[in-house]
Amino acid sequence: MSRTQVAIIGAGPSGLLLSQLLHTCGIDSVVLERRARAYVEARIRAGLLESGTVALLNQAGVGARMMREGLVHDGVELAFDGRTHRIDLKALTGQQMMVYGQTEIQKDLADAHAAAGGRVLWQAEEVAIHDFDGHTPRVSYRHAGARQQIECDFIAGCDGYHGVTRASVPAGRITLHERVYPFGWLGVLADVAPVADELVYVNHARGFSLCSMRSMNRSRYYLQCPLDDSLDSWPDARFWDELRARLPEKYAARLVTGASIEKSIAPLRSFVAEPLRFGRLFLVGDAAHIVPPTGAKGLNLALADVGVLHQALVEHYRAGSETLLSEYSARALARVWKATRFSWWFTTLMHRFSADTFAYRLQLAELEYIAQSEAAACAFAQNYVGLRPPH
Ligand SMILES: Cc1cc2nc3c(=O)[nH]c(=O)nc-3n(C[C@H](O)[C@H](O)[C@H](O)COP(=O)(O)OP(=O)(O)OC[C@H]3O[C@@H](n4cnc5c(N)ncnc54)[C@H](O)[C@@H]3O)c2cc1C
Repeated sequence: MSRTQVAIIGAGPSGLLLSQLLHTCGIDSVVLERRARAYVEARIRAGLLESGTVALLNQAGVGARMMREGLVHDGVELAFDGRTHRIDLKALTGQQMMVYGQTEIQKDLADAHAAAGGRVLWQAEEVAIHDFDGHTPRVSYRHAGARQQIECDFIAGCDGYHGVTRASVPAGRITLHERVYPFGWLGVLADVAPVADELVYVNHARGFSLCSMRSMNRSRYYLQCPLDDSLDSWPDARFWDELRARLPEKYAARLVTGASIEKSIAPLRSFVAEPLRFGRLFLVGDAAHIVPPTGAKGLNLALADVGVLHQALVEHYRAGSETLLSEYSARALARVWKATRFSWWFTTLMHRFSADTFAYRLQLAELEYIAQSEAAACAFAQNYVGLRPPH
């Protein structure tokens, strides 16, 4: 049986960043990932980073390419009732956002991790965690055809919503809160110039849409769609026509279309598990919470958890203290619940839930209020750029 200080399940952004941060502080870890590296790096997901996330990636020494290639955004636009209103994030909060794809973060992390001699067991099968309530937690798995075990001090469950770590906690010890939304997001990635320099969130009678980007030549667009729609019913031409129909005139006129290089439908869900600590097991990122993508909080929340857990583990190994470890769950959840509220609220504000005209008129009234009131715009901006940790 081999040994490490921290066994990390999952080599998504949470798992690799935690391992990399621990490495910079001389703490040993092993990462077990069920997929191949190429598969993990190809998953098209998030792309909008809060300044706290940017700082954490720089702290881990993996931010150089992001600082060169990422797009800095000072604001964001809300479109409704045929008009647009820009929220000046920088003026209202002093903070900016960074556009840099999760695929690129994943590559930067894996490259830096490998260069530092970090251990990732890609394609580890049948991963199971044992005795996480006792003093000698273990992880068993099959790798390259052989069954193996690692003994460790702590296990970090960074294995996403469908992972094994949360599922290993006895039902009576964990509370799960969930809200499933009655629509999905149809996303298209295309090598065309974006319609605007900043993100545009659109409330439209035909349904929500979002104009986003990965670079100034690669756009990421989304349409609210029925959950049971299939990709076959959305050829590129229909997607572009529908997007154009939902955009305010000035952006519809500027829309450049092209062949999609990725197209997918994602369901929308809010989900929080609590607590996040079970003996020597810590749940991190999507293993513990999911938000709908409206407002781009998912990846930012996941990496914020990593920051809190990293600090606690460093304090434990340097000072022998349990204080921050025992506070991990409460500190992480304080941020998680606020972002869960914001993502739910923003989703509710921007999407069509039914043909109910009363609900639609209330949405427009609230959007007008945000456009007219600096206090309302400021509350939006503070949540959008990411609320600071409570302590
Ligand atoms: C389709 C989609 C679109 C998204 N879009 C956005 C967006 O626009 N903006 C935003 O902010 N967020 C978005 N998100 C959320 C964001 O991508 C996640 O919050 C982020 O990936 C969380 O990182 P993580 O490392 O915690 O989990 P994950 O990225 O899910 O990584 C978990 C890893 O664990 C591995 N794993 C799972 N089970 C096991 C096991 N049994 N053994 C070993 N390894 C295992 C998985 O293969 C995976 O590599 C999106 C998510 C999805 C799914």
